Amino acid sequence: MSLVIENVTKDYPTRTGTLSILRGVSLTLERGAAVAVMGPSGSGKSTLLHILGTLDRPTGGTVALDGTNPFALSEPELAAFRNARIGFVFQDHHLLPQCSVLENVLIPTLVSATTKPAETEAYARDLLARVGLGDRLDHRPAELSGGERQRVAVARALVLKPALLLADEPTGNLDRINAQAVGELLLALHEQERNVLVVVTHSADLAKLFPRRAEMNDGHLHFLP
Ligand code: ADP
Repeated sequence: MSLVIENVTKDYPTRTGTLSILRGVSLTLERGAAVAVMGPSGSGKSTLLHILGTLDRPTGGTVALDGTNPFALSEPELAAFRNARIGFVFQDHHLLPQCSVLENVLIPTLVSATTKPAETEAYARDLLARVGLGDRLDHRPAELSGGERQRVAVARALVLKPALLLADEPTGNLDRINAQAVGELLLALHEQERNVLVVVTHSADLAKLFPRRAEMNDGHLHFLP
């Protein structure tokens, strides 16, 4: 598995001229790599993450995930590719309140044509045990703490064994202790699954858990020593 982006640019046309948000970002991440992307607000971190997640198209440059350029796919192919290859964790957990913890983790599998239901459910139970919620499978999100909800969101992101796991401020809504726990959990699961993990964060505490840190500034991405 590898993620290779080369000279990615993103411009937004506005009434007062073109805003160049990404000005040529290149990055190669091999299987098992993890990086925390930091940088000031408005520097383009989320824009970059959305492009890596194929949710947004770059203006220029190339993106290859496992050698596939996702932006050359048709919309239905791209949706299937994203579902199968990329897991997302957002700042807000986005759990469905009417569904149980186990059902929430299984949501991505509902639109996946290739999965075997019994195996997938066993894997979802396994993931929930690994995030420490093996005894909360039938609970509703409202019965969980903020940290527990985010742990469910992490299990949901991993249920289809994505090659690429992306997280945008995954600890942004949590207190310090829960933030630390969710950060450590993300990295532990990343190491077990050997996916590529890219996290965008303002949190120095979260970033310092990562083997590599990078900073977005003035449209460029720099690795920090
Ligand atoms: P960060 O995640 O680093 O805070 P973002 O990637 O969210 O930054 O945003 C980078 C910049 O791009 C911001 O100045 C934002 O206003 C601008 N931007 C984002 N989306 C659009 C859009 N659709 N049109 C114009 N500007 C946008």
